[in-house]
Amino acid sequence: MPRLAVLGYPVSHSRSPAMQNAALAELGLGGKWSYGAIEVAPDHFAELVRSLPDDDFAGVNVTVPHKIAALAAADSASPTAREIGAANMLSFSDRRVSAENTDASGVIEAIGRSVTGKRALVIGAGGSARAAAWALREGGAQVSIWNRTPAKAEALASALGVGFDDRAAGDERRVEHLDLIVNATTVGLEQAATRPPAQGDLEALPLRVGSIGPGQIIVDLVYGSHETALVAAARKRGAEVVDGLEVLVRQGAASLRLWTGHEPPLETMRRAAADMPA
Ligand code: NAP
Repeated sequence: MPRLAVLGYPVSHSRSPAMQNAALAELGLGGKWSYGAIEVAPDHFAELVRSLPDDDFAGVNVTVPHKIAALAAADSASPTAREIGAANMLSFSDRRVSAENTDASGVIEAIGRSVTGKRALVIGAGGSARAAAWALREGGAQVSIWNRTPAKAEALASALGVGFDDRAAGDERRVEHLDLIVNATTVGLEQAATRPPAQGDLEALPLRVGSIGPGQIIVDLVYGSHETALVAAARKRGAEVVDGLEVLVRQGAASLRLWTGHEPPLETMRRAAADMPA
């Protein structure tokens, strides 16, 4: 019976097992495939990955902090994973490990339309910002990157051949000229896990919220049991909103499609992911 799992440290909070097992059941694969969660410390990650094919694993998703190590542990990698420099999905065949990055396609599929020519701002310069900026650039968007630590945004922008945004304060934080904004920082994570949004929650982001409006797409990679302040503000101001759960569902669906060859049931996955406590 092929096994699947998500590897993380920690991993108990992950919604992937509930989401993927619901999808497997809906596809009639529940008796054949299973999806679990394995907590593994960074020191043991590579060794564990090598042992998984012997334990009937067909593949794993990989989350914080292992996405760079996952690429390093693989025998081969897709051009996408190589160019991003990180993998969130591994597949095992004949004891060979291959790496893929479905975080990138997940963002584009969650947006659900062409991003060609869109003026996009990616906020953050960590692993998920890298995947989002790469995917938007590949899709033909005009991408700029802002980060709290500007040197990291500058380095990432230079590596990807996209723009560096050094917006500071006040009017520089207006966003009317942008079509698409992606929050790829951890800002909002604690709030979404514990309580509804409140005044002041958005101060860490380089956005003048009053300048968000209809016609814009706001993507927040962060999710929890409450709406994030960014999602709440963007919705209120008439922008189109793509929340972090939709991105989670889309990266998970892309992984499941590659492992099983079946078309994943998105609605079932959305419901299962949303039902989980944070
Ligand atoms: P990461 O590599 O640790 O990067 C964290 C980023 O957040 C950095 O750019 C950091 O800036 C910034 N940051 C942290 N605290 C900040 C603050 N107080 N103000 C402004 N910026 C701050 O994390 P990651 O793996 O990219 O993940 C980022 C977020 O995306 C997480 O919340 C994660 O849960 C979410 N995510 C969601 C999905 C999904 O499927 N929905 C997938 C992947 C990730 P500095 O460089 O200045 O420290």
